[in-house]
Amino acid sequence: MFDLCVIGGGIYGCGVAQAAAANGLSVLLVEKEELASGTSSQSTKLIHGGLRYLEQGRLKLVYEALAEREILLRIAPGLVERVWVHIPVYASSRRSRAWVGAGLALYWLLSAGRSPMRGFAPERSPVPALRREGLRWVWAYTDASTDDARLVSAVAENARRFGCEIRTHCALERAEAHKGRWKIALGDGSCVEARVLVNAAGAWIPEVAWRIAPAPPSPPVRLVQGSHLWLERPMEAFVYLESLDGRVMFVRPWRGRTLVGTTETEFSG
Ligand SMILES: Cc1cc2nc3c(=O)[nH]c(=O)nc-3n(C[C@H](O)[C@H](O)[C@H](O)COP(=O)(O)OP(=O)(O)OC[C@H]3O[C@@H](n4cnc5c(N)ncnc54)[C@H](O)[C@@H]3O)c2cc1C
Repeated sequence: MFDLCVIGGGIYGCGVAQAAAANGLSVLLVEKEELASGTSSQSTKLIHGGLRYLEQGRLKLVYEALAEREILLRIAPGLVERVWVHIPVYASSRRSRAWVGAGLALYWLLSAGRSPMRGFAPERSPVPALRREGLRWVWAYTDASTDDARLVSAVAENARRFGCEIRTHCALERAEAHKGRWKIALGDGSCVEARVLVNAAGAWIPEVAWRIAPAPPSPPVRLVQGSHLWLERPMEAFVYLESLDGRVMFVRPWRGRTLVGTTETEFSG
């Protein structure tokens, strides 16, 4: 019998499994496909405090995310690296140079001075690809970037080293509570028992919850959908851009191509 059975091999499932295994618990992680086959390999690949959340007044969230960013930079130097991100301010931008500068100063403060910022006049812009017409200023600040799928693999590998058993291509079929433990039927035809069951199935959390009896009291899940564009032409620098409708998105180099995104809309399908 396992102390813990974790459903889902994304960054959350692997993180929970790693923390539990490192604390001496016996852990089984099951993933219905490959590790990181869900959202955790399709992100914008940033480890960031979330500059845009400052505009929503979510200071605590940004503060905590920036602290986590520093931990990851320290413990995973080959996987998480600091990058300069550039914010161009145009005559037509909704956010003024002063507004963005104030936001970056707050970001710097919340990061305890670990997100330095710089400003450039248009003629000294460090990003030649930026349109010059109407360009008023370019801000630059530091955040962090990662290979999201590799990060999941590294966390899973570490969990394994602490004795965690990981089964891929093995979905949770059904789990039933029985005399204080969970009896769990898996897609590989086996049946295991665990004291605690963790539903870390990301966007599939509701679907997995339906397979659990009695149904766990799960908080309502708000699903959001994000899209990226892949451009063949490589961008030489990270840019955080305001689109025509005021939304902000990253334009970032990634393996010889350019990743643009992300949108964020509620999903109810
Ligand atoms: C477009 C986009 C861009 C993003 N960019 C960033 C970013 O730059 N930085 C950042 O920090 N965050 C970003 N995020 C958020 C981040 O990617 C997610 O919060 C994170 O990946 C969610 O991880 P997860 O482990 O919860 O889910 P997932 O990675 O989706 O993992 C869930 C896993 O559960 C498995 N599963 C489902 N059902 C079962 C079952 N019955 N049995 C077994 N396994 C099952 C799935 O196959 C899947 O692998 C972004 C999100 C989106 C959508």
